[in-house]
Amino acid sequence: MISSKLVKEAAIAAGADLCGIAPITRMKGAPDEMNPMFLFPEAKSMIGFVFRIPRGVQRGIEEGTQFYQYPSMAYGGINEIFAPAVLYSVGKVIEDEGYEAFVYRNTGARGCVSDMDGSPGNTLSPEEQIEVNENAKTSTAHHRNVQFTRATREDNVPPDLQFQFRLAAVACGLGEIGWSKMLLTPEFGPLQRVAFLFTDAEFDEYDEMYNGKPLCRKCGACVRECPGGCIPAINSGKTITVNIDGKLCEWGDIDMWRCYAFYTHAGRYYNPFVPKEVWDKNENGALDLMEGVTDLANEQEIMKVYTALQKYFPSWVGYNMAKCGGCIRACVSMLEKKGGCMEDRFEQPLRTRKTAWKLDR
Ligand code: SF4
Ligand code: SF4
Repeated sequence: MISSKLVKEAAIAAGADLCGIAPITRMKGAPDEMNPMFLFPEAKSMIGFVFRIPRGVQRGIEEGTQFYQYPSMAYGGINEIFAPAVLYSVGKVIEDEGYEAFVYRNTGARGCVSDMDGSPGNTLSPEEQIEVNENAKTSTAHHRNVQFTRATREDNVPPDLQFQFRLAAVACGLGEIGWSKMLLTPEFGPLQRVAFLFTDAEFDEYDEMYNGKPLCRKCGACVRECPGGCIPAINSGKTITVNIDGKLCEWGDIDMWRCYAFYTHAGRYYNPFVPKEVWDKNENGALDLMEGVTDLANEQEIMKVYTALQKYFPSWVGYNMAKCGGCIRACVSMLEKKGGCMEDRFEQPLRTRKTAWKLDR
């Protein structure tokens, strides 16, 4: 048995902003292919770590002045540098106590089912597929899952299993899922990323799941400010509901492929890097999805969009160069103004104008 205080103090000292510990059995209702209980069958506990996204990395997108910092610092920086460093440090503390630390940093497209929708098919990873098309002799096709993975034993599922990070964070008592499918925490609203550690250790204390005032106001700000109309209206009835060990989590059934296009390329009115003429011309219908000519959002349409627009914002950081930030900024702004988990954190609100900027074209 390990002291939860010991591990939490180690996590905070190493640089995590929050840490929650839960018995791994809280994940027992997850589909097998996405259930972390299959990762380390002897694991008894799971530890969730929260890494705050500094509100300031959204400032440039809020002002329309700087778009690179959010994807590079808050996606790349946290996933590749800050979170792995904390996992490594805390893992050593646990192993010094004589238990194993199975660390799990954020990753993507590595499971046997698609990380877009949980389906087992050969879902393409559009931007990587473009590279394959351009360098066909040297590259292997990429998908949102690993196509040919097989279970190595009868009582388990294929590696490399990927689980739902946000739901695992709920299980660890760190927060709730908002209507926009973002994880909301009492401390940072929608501004964080997470990482996990599984261990065969039991802890002297486990965290309850969050049971305070609902963190999502169901205000619909995220719906209104999504440039792609990807998030259904609050009263649309289009919901996804999941039961985490007795706690019901519900969110809007977001059109994830639409979001794949819009969160990177934002659209005619919110992407200052793509000249107006490119939208006007819409060569070969490549921007039909972004321009509302078609509602069909799938891998093929996304590949057309990415192929047509990727040259207008080079400097990839291994992550999609998110330019939208619509739902996250709308949520922060609303929670700060109307009350909820973000109030009283900052002297000045994120949004100092009445509305977000929009290009006139
Ligand atoms: S990230 Fe952007 S495109 Fe995706 S749901 Fe949020 S606001 Fe919409
Ligand atoms: S913007 Fe409003 S409805 Fe959307 S997730 Fe935030 S609090 Fe919930």
